[in-house]
Amino acid sequence: MKTKVLKIDDKSLQIAKDYILNGEVVGFPTETVYGLGGIAYKDGAVKKIFDAKGRPQDNPLIVHVHDGYDVDKLVLVEYDYVYKLRKAFVPGPLTMVYKSKGVISPVATCGLDTVGIRVPKHEGAQRFLRAVDVPVAAPSANASKHTSPVTAMHVYEDLKGRVPLILDGGMCDGGIESTVLDVTTDTPIILRSGLITCEMIKKVVGRCEYSNNTAKDKVRAPGMKYQHYTPKCKTALFKRTEIEKAKAYYRDNAEKGLRVVYMCDDAISRNLDGSCLNLGKNANEIAHNLYDALHKAEGMADLLIAFDVNTGSDVDVGIMNRLEKACQRI
Ligand code: AMP
Ligand code: MG
Repeated sequence: MKTKVLKIDDKSLQIAKDYILNGEVVGFPTETVYGLGGIAYKDGAVKKIFDAKGRPQDNPLIVHVHDGYDVDKLVLVEYDYVYKLRKAFVPGPLTMVYKSKGVISPVATCGLDTVGIRVPKHEGAQRFLRAVDVPVAAPSANASKHTSPVTAMHVYEDLKGRVPLILDGGMCDGGIESTVLDVTTDTPIILRSGLITCEMIKKVVGRCEYSNNTAKDKVRAPGMKYQHYTPKCKTALFKRTEIEKAKAYYRDNAEKGLRVVYMCDDAISRNLDGSCLNLGKNANEIAHNLYDALHKAEGMADLLIAFDVNTGSDVDVGIMNRLEKACQRI
């Protein structure tokens, strides 16, 4: 199969619509990362998503709809705080996990009685979802376990020959996946951290908790137990207090002939010599640059040396969740 990469315009959206309504899968940009979408009603289309990614069959997909879509056709709202959350954060990088009305393919929900719904804010995503006007099941558009894509080229590198079309909307702004929030309980529970933080939700609802996303917590957040986000080079993650140790590790490996690169925030980068991918000064910049830097690292180095992020922002939780999974703690 040849994979087309097309800028988003009326013509490419028509092509995307034809593919989606015929049960094919299409890569598309959102404000978090690129998604790989298929019509969420059709088992066959959803299976193609799992196959193209090599994704484990028990990790449910998020369903995406446009801003004008009546989400309540798909889900039951059990708590009134949901309406406040919608008003504050929808459209945006927040996925809410609701009780499902059973309309979505069980392949997408992995047979759970809940379904995660997101309305992306990204203009290209909105245009795509409006054009197809059906719920689109979409995980991140990378090969399973690999670093999530934040450009169309990242998607192409992972999925070329496996998907017919990637819509190119430039680099994603947000840079890490949506916050996944369970809204089937009296207190909303964060199943995956992201740019909509616990503090932000507390301000709107008055309460919010983190799930303990461990391998044991299978039903709540099935995806969290898998290896994720890893670049193709070796990795080593250091604490912020371990700069000297990291420098020695850099030297030792460079002497062995390995191409080594650091990845860290601006403050840490000032203390380092040698090749360095600077993630930026604040949490939003760091989130925006994280996956792009991991992709760059695997293209230029055999070993990536990364540092913990601690900017004082609540967004650090989401960044560290990705970093801990992407990199091996030393
Ligand atoms: P991805 O599609 O790679 O962005 O991952 C989606 C994340 O949302 C995974 O961690 C899933 O486990 C989680 N998720 C999706 N649907 C549900 C659901 N119905 N219940 C709990 N977690 C979900
Ligand atoms: Mg993913």
